[in-house]
Amino acid sequence: MADLLNPSFNLAEGLAAKKQQHLYRTRIEVESPQSAEIRVEGRDYLNFCSNDYLGLANHPDLVQSFKTAADTCGVGSGASHLINGHSSAHQNLELELAEFTGRDRALLFSTGYMANLGVISALCGRNDAVFEDRLNHASLIDAAILSRATLKRYRHNDVAHLEETLSISKGNRKLIVTDGVFSMDGDIAPMAGLATVAKQHQAWLMVDDAHGIGFLGEQGTGTLEQFNLSEQDVPVLMGTLGKALGTFGAFIAGSEELIETLIQNARTYIYTTALPPAVAAATRTSLGLIKTEAWRRQHLTELISAFRTGAEQLGLALMPSITPIQPLQIGDAARAMAISEQLRQKGFLISAIRPPTVPEGTSRLRITLTAGHSHQHIEALLEALEQACKAERET
Ligand SMILES: *Cc1c(COP(=O)(O)O)cnc(C)c1O
Repeated sequence: MADLLNPSFNLAEGLAAKKQQHLYRTRIEVESPQSAEIRVEGRDYLNFCSNDYLGLANHPDLVQSFKTAADTCGVGSGASHLINGHSSAHQNLELELAEFTGRDRALLFSTGYMANLGVISALCGRNDAVFEDRLNHASLIDAAILSRATLKRYRHNDVAHLEETLSISKGNRKLIVTDGVFSMDGDIAPMAGLATVAKQHQAWLMVDDAHGIGFLGEQGTGTLEQFNLSEQDVPVLMGTLGKALGTFGAFIAGSEELIETLIQNARTYIYTTALPPAVAAATRTSLGLIKTEAWRRQHLTELISAFRTGAEQLGLALMPSITPIQPLQIGDAARAMAISEQLRQKGFLISAIRPPTVPEGTSRLRITLTAGHSHQHIEALLEALEQACKAERET
């Protein structure tokens, strides 16, 4: 009825078009904690789609510190950080994140999405220019739009194209922004080249390390450790807590002046409620486990290499990646959906990623591995992928 009264709000038409293009999105209902094996709507699956890379989301030590903190701090933080929501748990976590990343200071945000919106719009405005990799996460693109700076997108991992774009830019401040590990591709940004170009053009460089932190680098501190780059090379580091760290939230790490600027100006920091303190407490435990349980990274690295070797033997065209994100490009959205569904029937949960999350014609299965998987899980996955891809070709 509403549609008849106001045809410009014809939502049914938009929904029907999504369905017809195989781009309609639905949710599944998870009935167990995140883990390598997961229960969904009454059935057990092997889980190859979470971002819980180190298998910490349901680690007993995290659960315990969360419970203990809830007993002593309650559940809600009650206010924003600048009013009185900033507790000792938040403060201590910020100190530990600064130490973990080797930076002067760190500042907690309630989500990674908000951290990106907050930092880019606090640093850049109308007369500035933001340079982003074409495949950057949606939150980084939205952040640049929100900032009102000129947004330039350079070809994926193409330092020469970035340099060309920078050299003709009239932006006052120039901010280059890249994912450290690309969320839908699993490949790593050419950080050394980006840092060099940034210096040459007096630009600042920011890395969103949502998928690198906890995994990359000897100590697991992320993409910048892998490239041995400092706060001078890459002034802005964003990390999330909801992926390898197994909890929720995000942070920006950098200089004293950067963090103070964000406290004064980042609207998504100022105008929102602080994370529950128990989440901060659990994250501190998670940082401790990253130090003491290095085996998680080693085991995951072994699984990645076993998976890639096995896939190559089967002739599966994996995208180039040394990270836990191991996408298998399918191309067509409908085919990607069909294969994902086949795998689901076999007891494997693997999501099909379609436009607009990835460019048209590059729909893929986004397979993610975690430290919670075993070599047997990988063997089972390879066998299921082989069968599902074969069955789909024959239909
Ligand atoms: C997940 C993700 C975010 C958003 O982080 P949330 O804490 O989930 O809001 C930002 N950037 C990248 C690259 C991500 O993968």
